[in-house]
Amino acid sequence: MRSLSSRYIPGETLDDALRELRALRDEDFTGIIDILGEDVADERAARSVVQAYGKAAEAIKAEELDAYVSVKPTHVGLNLSEDLAAELYAELARKCAELDLFLRVEMEDHTTTDATLRVFARLRAEFDNVGIVLQSRLFRTPTDIDAIPAGPLSVRMVKGIYLEPGKIAHVDPDPIRDEYVACAIKLFERGAFVSIATHDDVLADALTAYCKEHGIGTDRYEFQVLLGVRRPLWRAWRDAGHPVRVYVPFGPEWRAYSTRRLRKNPQIVRHLMRDFFSLGD
Ligand code: FAD
Repeated sequence: MRSLSSRYIPGETLDDALRELRALRDEDFTGIIDILGEDVADERAARSVVQAYGKAAEAIKAEELDAYVSVKPTHVGLNLSEDLAAELYAELARKCAELDLFLRVEMEDHTTTDATLRVFARLRAEFDNVGIVLQSRLFRTPTDIDAIPAGPLSVRMVKGIYLEPGKIAHVDPDPIRDEYVACAIKLFERGAFVSIATHDDVLADALTAYCKEHGIGTDRYEFQVLLGVRRPLWRAWRDAGHPVRVYVPFGPEWRAYSTRRLRKNPQIVRHLMRDFFSLGD
């Protein structure tokens, strides 16, 4: 597990993540820091997660890295209390605003979507430096886009890592991809900044063609990728002039986290094996 994970996770400490971000900067990639973990057991744990993110934000600023922090709702207590998660996200958003940094609210499985969107709405009313993640897998996502009030908006568009029931989500690859493109276009039309988080080159080509045709420049979009996944593709995007931001997760909880991820979405094993034997690139 460790040797498989080491490709995707630079290490257990903030220093490991910073070292990776500096190496990425040398290749003209920007970054995102994520501390591994989810579903904290109590309020104390949630508060210490926010402290750790605060330290990460301070280090990003001190090293003048072009990076920001990205936080899972249940890592800051959403499953304990929505108010607690809102309070802790606000504390971190305030700190990030002081440091002139951005904060991304991530999206977990469908049982958390409503609460996450409510927390994001509360944050957005107070802060400009916060963004959300939306999943094209879920049938509800176009309606969720319509429901987000007007004003500046930054969305990371993803397919969705959690396998969801067919009653509420697309389960086949083609509709998930088609919905992704449709949702991203809907977001562009309402003026959002869109982080195109994918390693799917077909989907990426469709969206870069759309941007070119509609005069949407690199101030309105970027690619986001996971460390260790299809690096030749990011290089090709970068060389073609598209900004690419790399997600760098770290933390002592890598083993528990990787095991849970594999259990929740066994397709990751297929990705891993394809990638491992270089059939995916
Ligand atoms: P796929 O069709 O799954 O993959 C395209 C190609 O990339 C295939 O060749 C595949 O083999 C390869 N590939 C993809 N993933 C891997 C992998 N892990 N290992 C090896 N090869 C791989 N999901 C959420 O639900 N919530 C989030 O908050 C969230 N944040 C994300 C942040 C970033 C920066 C990224 C890149 C993804 C995030 N995701 C999140 C995950 C996302 O939902 C998808 O599960 C993931 O990106 C894989 O989908 P894909 O678009 O790359 O397409």
